[in-house]
Amino acid sequence: MSNTKGSNGGAAVRALAPGFMRGTSSTSAGSIALEPSPPDHATRQAELAEIVRRQLELLGEDPDRDGLLKTPERVAKALAWLTRGYDTDVRDVIGDAVFEETHESMVMVRDIELYSMCEHHLLPFFGKVHIAYIPDGRIVGLSKLPRIVEVFARRLQVQERLTEQVAQAIEEVLRPRGVGVVVEAVHLCMMMRGVEKQNSKTITSALRGQFRDCPMTRDEFLRLAHRGA
Ligand SMILES: [Zn+2]
Repeated sequence: MSNTKGSNGGAAVRALAPGFMRGTSSTSAGSIALEPSPPDHATRQAELAEIVRRQLELLGEDPDRDGLLKTPERVAKALAWLTRGYDTDVRDVIGDAVFEETHESMVMVRDIELYSMCEHHLLPFFGKVHIAYIPDGRIVGLSKLPRIVEVFARRLQVQERLTEQVAQAIEEVLRPRGVGVVVEAVHLCMMMRGVEKQNSKTITSALRGQFRDCPMTRDEFLRLAHRGA
């Protein structure tokens, strides 16, 4: 599971906020002690608000007018919320919700709501995630699948990587016979700017194990995933 944490541009995260991801200090306490301690939450929020204020000025706005007075703090708070996935990892959300079980058929959770932020434009992309796996002696509490999505969605992302990370996390937690993830999303950076493709949806998938190797399993999954899409 250590890969799950590290696979998300760990270097960039650390540069932003050293030791920010929970668990880091306990797994490598010795080396962390030598590094300067990271700015606390309040300090980071205040700095971020300052930057947003400057951003408003550069956009030609007056950050002191009534409507904008509290905007820098609000934006800083919103950004912290939208990227709170940096502060969680899959281990945290799964806890002890993995159970021994002999069930050997496909388990699927459809239409998991997704909200994320495109790392190229810092604009939202959002849609649905469909997840399925075929257990090999272990199942996970169904409510945990949406929470795994949250861990990775609440970071700066590209849809392709998000899809792979969710599949990878399930593979590492459950070691199932196969896992399939389909993400369908619309990107505001495409809809609001540039090409202005209002109705185009981006669909990505990650297929592992039997979902990749067995055409029948793959077809069944993709049929279920795209039904009503
Ligand atoms: Zn974008």
